[in-house]
Amino acid sequence: MNESKKVLVCGAGGFIGGHLVNRLKSEGYWVRGVDLKENEFGNMNADEFILGDLCDPEVANKSVQGISEVYQLAADMGGAGYIFTGENDASVMHNSSLCNLNVLHASYKHGVKKIFYSSSACIYPEYNQMDPDNPKCSEESAYPAAPDSEYGWEKLFSERLYMSYQRNFNMEVRIARFHNIFGPQGTWTGGREKAPAAICRKVAAAENGDRIEIWGDGKQTRSFLYIDECVEGIRLLMESDFTGPVNIGSEYAISINDFTKLIIDISGKDIGIDHIPGPLGVRGRNSDNNLLREKLNWEPKMTLREGISITYDWIKEQLKVTA
Ligand code: NAD
Repeated sequence: MNESKKVLVCGAGGFIGGHLVNRLKSEGYWVRGVDLKENEFGNMNADEFILGDLCDPEVANKSVQGISEVYQLAADMGGAGYIFTGENDASVMHNSSLCNLNVLHASYKHGVKKIFYSSSACIYPEYNQMDPDNPKCSEESAYPAAPDSEYGWEKLFSERLYMSYQRNFNMEVRIARFHNIFGPQGTWTGGREKAPAAICRKVAAAENGDRIEIWGDGKQTRSFLYIDECVEGIRLLMESDFTGPVNIGSEYAISINDFTKLIIDISGKDIGIDHIPGPLGVRGRNSDNNLLREKLNWEPKMTLREGISITYDWIKEQLKVTA
């Protein structure tokens, strides 16, 4: 059905990009991927793959040749241990901005019709996320802007960049703000992993009677969305008439302590929790899906337990393979 449509996925070597490529292939698209690295879990079935750095405008130009729709997911990113320590701020700001500037401008010059941009819940102001039980993350609450990380500021700048190209150059833009996406084939070790993968790894590696370490007091709240639902949201947004920005996340918030207990319960092990100092982010964050329901007539359905069980099993297997 979609064979004549050629699409580009930037960041195809990464977690969400890899899953998105496979989803687009299953829908019949011809897909080109581009990334600094190949997908480490081999989970990427693009028709063509360009190994290259999108900070180089020539790589961006080459990548968009003959393409009608672009999904821009390439970013210098990681979990709290990567984006909240301050040590990677310059690289996050420089690399991610250049990827966005180059991909968007190349798309404009080469007549790409529609472009998707992956923003983040990290753009929301810190002052609305101090209470773990009552965070505010509705789309219009992004301003006055006060993200708590340079990663969030770059995402906000880039949202505005894409909207400017839509306004001035008539490009069709779609912007989603993802909230903590998790699942198999995500980074699970090495320093860039996010909380769900890191906690699954610690629990999977522990023996009965062991204790695992959690950053902070564990009372901070978050919501987590399974990868397949994220990809479904991306596709629905891309096919809709709505530009966004719109949240793509789960509205089921849970404290990190309860989240850890859930993973321990899934493992069937008897494991204790120690709280240690570490990079944290805001006290509370949850997706607000009112706009998502209104504009896309859709919301995620899968339970956290179901998604985490699949992810836990996958990480347990990875530990065996690398042991
Ligand atoms: P990921 O790190 O697995 O994927 C990002 C990919 O971008 C990586 O494979 C990386 O190599 C590539 N990349 C980085 N710099 C590049 C460059 N200069 N040239 C080419 N490729 C480059 O991350 P992900 O979880 O798949 O996230 C995808 C997008 O979604 C990112 O933009 C991220 O900021 C956004 N996002 C993700 C989450 C989440 O929970 N995973 C939440 C909010 C937003």
